[in-house]
Amino acid sequence: MDTTFPAVTALVSCEDGDGGSKETLHCQRLFATMFESSPAAIMITDQDNRIIAVNPGFSQLTGYSSEEAVGQTPSLLKSGRHDRAFYQAMWRDLRERGVWTGEVWDRRKDGSLYPKWLHIKVVPGMEVEGRDVADYYVASFMDVSARKEAEERIRKLAYHDVLTGLPNRLLLRDRLQHAMANAQRRRHHLAVLFIDLDSFKNVNDSLGHAAGDLLLMSVASRLRASVRDVDTVARLGGDEFVVVLENLEDEANAVAVAAKIHSTLGRPMTVGTQNLHAAASIGIAIYPEDGESADTLMQNADTAMYQAKARGRGNSQFFAPIMNEQAREKLELENTLLGSLERDEFQLYYQPILDLASGTLSSVEALIRWHSPERGLIPPDKFIPIAEETGVIVQIGDWVIQQACRDLAAWRARGLKTPRVSVNISPRQFRQPGLTSRIHGLLLESGIAAGQLELEVTESALMERPDLAANLLHDLKALGMGIVIDDFGTGYSSLAYLKKFPIDKLKIDRSFVSDLLSDKSDREITLAVIALSHNLGLQVTAEGVELQAQLDFLRQHECDSAQGYFFSKPMPPVAFMDFLASGRFTAPSPHLATTC
Ligand code: C2E
Ligand code: MG
Ligand code: MG
Repeated sequence: MDTTFPAVTALVSCEDGDGGSKETLHCQRLFATMFESSPAAIMITDQDNRIIAVNPGFSQLTGYSSEEAVGQTPSLLKSGRHDRAFYQAMWRDLRERGVWTGEVWDRRKDGSLYPKWLHIKVVPGMEVEGRDVADYYVASFMDVSARKEAEERIRKLAYHDVLTGLPNRLLLRDRLQHAMANAQRRRHHLAVLFIDLDSFKNVNDSLGHAAGDLLLMSVASRLRASVRDVDTVARLGGDEFVVVLENLEDEANAVAVAAKIHSTLGRPMTVGTQNLHAAASIGIAIYPEDGESADTLMQNADTAMYQAKARGRGNSQFFAPIMNEQAREKLELENTLLGSLERDEFQLYYQPILDLASGTLSSVEALIRWHSPERGLIPPDKFIPIAEETGVIVQIGDWVIQQACRDLAAWRARGLKTPRVSVNISPRQFRQPGLTSRIHGLLLESGIAAGQLELEVTESALMERPDLAANLLHDLKALGMGIVIDDFGTGYSSLAYLKKFPIDKLKIDRSFVSDLLSDKSDREITLAVIALSHNLGLQVTAEGVELQAQLDFLRQHECDSAQGYFFSKPMPPVAFMDFLASGRFTAPSPHLATTC
């Protein structure tokens, strides 16, 4: 027997050491060989829980040599992952049943953690020739990390799509059921978005399956990036994906996510040497309205997806007939906005802004109108926010500037003296990189001088990133354009920044003007904005003047200019041209207030 394990010699010896019989010696050798060559780690501890022997398998697994381990307690191996109760239960089992088996996390000498499968057996004490031999504990264990990793791989394979790593149908079902239970408890909604790529087959057929795979992987990561961490993105197979949106406050949020998905998939994806765009059709079903079981919800979202597909590429469609009216309208507008621009369904209307001291025309505001063949005239408040959300505002914004320049050129061609045209710039448009150079380009193209344009930006757009805004405004101003802060008083302006911005004019929001006569605080705000403007050397315009008394008040308090139905509603370009030609604006007249 190996002398490094003297205690074992004693333990396994069948007789004491007076030489013994040949049979006993053989028995000892047998046990010693078994102990030493066992691939399992074996550790023997005594009654006081001191390690008295370990085998080479132990040293190999734990990194501790026999010299380092013997004399220590097994807590040498503790990982800290198990609490007191865990070890107490282990000791209770050992006392009561003499054996314990289970999985334990341990720490190697190098600090690394590993799971082991541990078996401990008590060797009860006995009397040997008048001497009491105490209890011993024999622990044998094996590293099971490889097995656990394999199990995890199998579990992952069973629940995930191999190509994209996204949850597959099985896991999706699980997650959906869980999410529905949650939604029911919290009385929340959830949405299932069934997404099917348009013309994916073409990619596979023309560029090959490898390119198809790359496209699917790219789509998967863009979908993942379009939702929150709590939401699920799954791939059902082929070009079908499903997104589950949890904790939905409003169905309209599902529309916003669908819009985001359309826009993110619409950005070019580099597949090999090609730049591809992946349009998708999206069907939306809401829980609990559109189904109370996972199967029904999925089926209804699928049906809605087919309806979306039938309407052409890149559309979304709700399943529910009972869906929120507003959400449906929003969705429909979103689907048709870009096409409307291409079909030339937009028009600019013009509303005069009058100089209150002289009664002459000061400038004119260009206000967009959408003439939808199906729905008639749609006001900007309805579609500008959607265009903002989907990003179409950038194209619409360019169109507005182009069109204002074209209308100006047409009036000029008629020999009319043209006023400055004020154009609204939405927050997203304002944030869009390259705004100055694009506007500059549009001006050059039209031959209209920058000084003919004023840009109206809202307070909130400026205050989002005031430093950037200040730089941008300086660039725009350098081109020669006027800068106006629109809807002033409705956002939060920092006066320190107001001073830094190169602005020409503040517009008092319509909400203050409309209650000017009846509401003391609105009156005070109006007066404060007039005073502030003048102190900062700026012009001030009042929006939404509808009554003579409002006009009188504003005039009396030296508001510079005003705009409102009292003078004129916004009118189409031809009507505005007649208005310019008539020169009637010198005497503000309520009779003009007839158009839109
Ligand atoms: P805004 O820039 O504050 O435009 C003033 C709005 O007040 C216009 O509504 C105008 O028609 C309305 N208004 C003017 N005088 C009166 C009045 O006396 N009484 C009442 N009740 N309303 C009056 P509109 O044309 O519906 O536009 C609403 C908003 O849509 C605009 O508010 C602006 O924020 C946005 N918008 C309009 N055209 C464009 C555009 O071309 N681009 C962008 N980004 N936004 C636009
Ligand atoms: Mg405006
Ligand atoms: Mg305004």
